[in-house]
Amino acid sequence: MAEGWLNWGLSTRCVHAGTVEDTVAGGVNTPIFASSAFRVPGPTGRVVYPRYQNIPGQVAVAQKIAALENAQAGIVVASGMAAISSVFLAFCQTGDHVILHRDLYGGTLGLARKELPRRGIDITWVDAFHVEDFEAAFRPQTRLIYVETPSNPLMNILDLETLAQMARSRGVLTVVDNTFATPINQNPLDLGIDIVVHSGTKYLNGHSDLCCGAVVGAASLLEAVTPVISLYGPSLSPYDCFLLERGLKTLALRMARHNHNAMAVAAYLAQDPRVARVYYPGLSEHPHHHIAARQMRGFGGMLSFEPKGNTKTAHRVMERFHFFQPAVSLGGVESLACFPVETSHASVPPLQREQMGIRDTLIRLSVGIEDTEDLLKDVDQALEAVL
Ligand code: PLP
Repeated sequence: MAEGWLNWGLSTRCVHAGTVEDTVAGGVNTPIFASSAFRVPGPTGRVVYPRYQNIPGQVAVAQKIAALENAQAGIVVASGMAAISSVFLAFCQTGDHVILHRDLYGGTLGLARKELPRRGIDITWVDAFHVEDFEAAFRPQTRLIYVETPSNPLMNILDLETLAQMARSRGVLTVVDNTFATPINQNPLDLGIDIVVHSGTKYLNGHSDLCCGAVVGAASLLEAVTPVISLYGPSLSPYDCFLLERGLKTLALRMARHNHNAMAVAAYLAQDPRVARVYYPGLSEHPHHHIAARQMRGFGGMLSFEPKGNTKTAHRVMERFHFFQPAVSLGGVESLACFPVETSHASVPPLQREQMGIRDTLIRLSVGIEDTEDLLKDVDQALEAVL
């Protein structure tokens, strides 16, 4: 990987890192390399094939994400779940033990519950947010720790540096899903984490028109992931690589606006008497704000809140939203709202959801890049549903 980008700022990396030169027409964008058959011997001397993740469009966009995460290497795949499952497949085998934080995206919880046990992989779930609570979970067979921070949907924060030190001293790999924060707000690898995964479907692409994922880390670690993707086949198409690269060019700009708008909405909700609770790590009253302030450059575009009243009230608030559209997914330019109990955590049993603190009235917002004032007015008028 060309590492000239090490001296560039994040916005410059968004625009320029990884771009493959258009030697035919001199275009400023990476061309779409739409072939699935490449001549041998080719210019690289290696066999080029989309499923091997080595066509130029895939390499270009993977390098851009790696550059943004300060990683040696990166791979792009067809979804966030493809990225996450490939990491488990690459590093865990029968007899291994993994430590998973319980506050994870519902799909990752499902993967862990359904796929890991039938492969003979043992799981210890950790509930707490004090890194010391991971200590008791280590076993001689522990291979990997997997966490998300900020977590979905309660925006809890884990201290990544302490977690990484604890795991490294025991020879255990650490994996962080950095989807919510994005590399603009947080670089887990700089804090000692080994591997970062992304649902690129969200902020990296940012326009709610593409499903993709990424894995980044040391080249020596990604050497174990590449063959898994070649064998199981979730490669990203040349057209999707183009879309993702185009989306990434504005990531830094978009995140600045997402951060700003989410902070404004969170602050507004926090002072509104019609609101029972707000979950946003940028608020000084958030229980993990001090950790977020240390390890994040911005607090992101995601927040959750509970309006006062019952489930019916919360549904009425949701119905009144104008700009916050009721939709699953997140991270696009448009504002979205959802009930985690009906979407990301629908498959989690009610009792367990309650233990996790995910109530029926909890509304998760993906705050978009619209004008701040319009979003605040929308929140204000929606809260009129709270009597
Ligand atoms: N990680 C997080 C934090 C997510 O929110 C999601 C999807 O919502 C995923 C991973 C899975 O990504 P994808 O839907 O692209 O497979």
